[in-house]
Amino acid sequence: MKTEFSLAQLADPDIAEADKILRACVHCGFCTATCPTYVLLGDELDSPRGRIYLIKEMLEKDRPPTREVVKHIDRCLSCLACMTTCPSGVNYMHLVDQARVRIERDYTRPLGERLLRAALAWVLPRPDLFRFSMKLARLGRPLLALLPAPKAASVTPTLWRRIKAMLALAPGRLPAPGAAGGSVFAALGARRGRVALLQGCAQQVLAPRINQAAISLLTRHGIEVVLVKDEQCCGALTHHLGRDDDALARARANIAVWLKEAEESGLDAILVTASGCGTVIKDYGFMLREDREFAGPAAKVSALARDITEYVAGLSLRPQQQHGELVIAYHSACSLQHGQKIGELPKELLSKNGFVVKDVPESHLCCGSAGTYNILQPDIASRLRDRKVANIAMVKPDMIAAGNIGCMVQIAGGTSVPVVHTIELLDWATGGPRPELN
Ligand code: SF4
Ligand code: SF4
Repeated sequence: MKTEFSLAQLADPDIAEADKILRACVHCGFCTATCPTYVLLGDELDSPRGRIYLIKEMLEKDRPPTREVVKHIDRCLSCLACMTTCPSGVNYMHLVDQARVRIERDYTRPLGERLLRAALAWVLPRPDLFRFSMKLARLGRPLLALLPAPKAASVTPTLWRRIKAMLALAPGRLPAPGAAGGSVFAALGARRGRVALLQGCAQQVLAPRINQAAISLLTRHGIEVVLVKDEQCCGALTHHLGRDDDALARARANIAVWLKEAEESGLDAILVTASGCGTVIKDYGFMLREDREFAGPAAKVSALARDITEYVAGLSLRPQQQHGELVIAYHSACSLQHGQKIGELPKELLSKNGFVVKDVPESHLCCGSAGTYNILQPDIASRLRDRKVANIAMVKPDMIAAGNIGCMVQIAGGTSVPVVHTIELLDWATGGPRPELN
């Protein structure tokens, strides 16, 4: 794609990066076929190619974002299916991240939406506050029926519709909190390695059992696990809301505590059980590339970050229990398959450990979770969830496995089939307890 940035514009490293990305796009449109919003809405401006044009115009003309641009960028799930499909290697992720920051900086949203986004950005990364808000939301659930119903086929959500979606996501009960930051879990038997396990923010409130399963499996296989004290939310949630000051501050804080831990006690890896977080931590090196103090440390942390399945694959798991040929529908989270290019590995691990793993039709399509997307774009998110659940039902599974808490909550909202994390099944297969079922 031809671009016309001025030399002055290109002096800005972000614009220089955007220029490089835009020039790689050859308008072929292959990406449209796998873009969930284009598949659903059929509008070129809701396709990757359409959005790339909109972002080019906004950045090149140095214009404030228009309502139309914001509408189509907001509808993007950042699922990155387009990056997997693109034959030219267009880094859509870094382009849309930049567009979201520009929108957050230069566009004034209606007051209600500003307040909602500010509340999400404040509450979600703070587990104590998130836990409290979930309890409040549970109390507010009886009000769901009183809120206005969405207009049929609406893809432009009202504030009430978004509040309704938020209340509907609150679980019926919250589990007891898991272990606190600063905890160290010793390896059973001879120690073969030492890792940090990201505690996460929403995940530690909604499903502490996931990290408990990871700790149980790792320690049983000779790995010492530390939950690093003073670790924060990885920044993914605010990063996807375009609030990069917040996201980068969290990244710097995490880099400081993780590298201190690595220097003082040694770390072979920083393990992540929520693939949405893993994708962003692996990108810290890029996000902080212009930061004189943190560029090098950020690159080190990104190199240490591993999805839990990547690390576990190197451990030679010892299967102890067979499960009567349980059929598992494996839901491949977008952040794992498109963001981190980890597609087959979790399925291979499950198969090797006694499960019958089935691919879900249209597995490249997002389930609609996408961070805060299922709150901010509830109607598109619901349509994607229903499509995902219908595809899952086609393989008639006993359980559904996924590697990301957002997907797990989203899918569980549309099916009675139990949804578990891949690591819970692997822990169970290698001597841990049977996963709790939703
Ligand atoms: S990230 Fe996903 S929703 Fe956004 S343009 Fe790419 S494929 Fe479409
Ligand atoms: S597939 Fe890649 S090169 Fe083709 S239009 Fe999409 S982003 Fe551009």
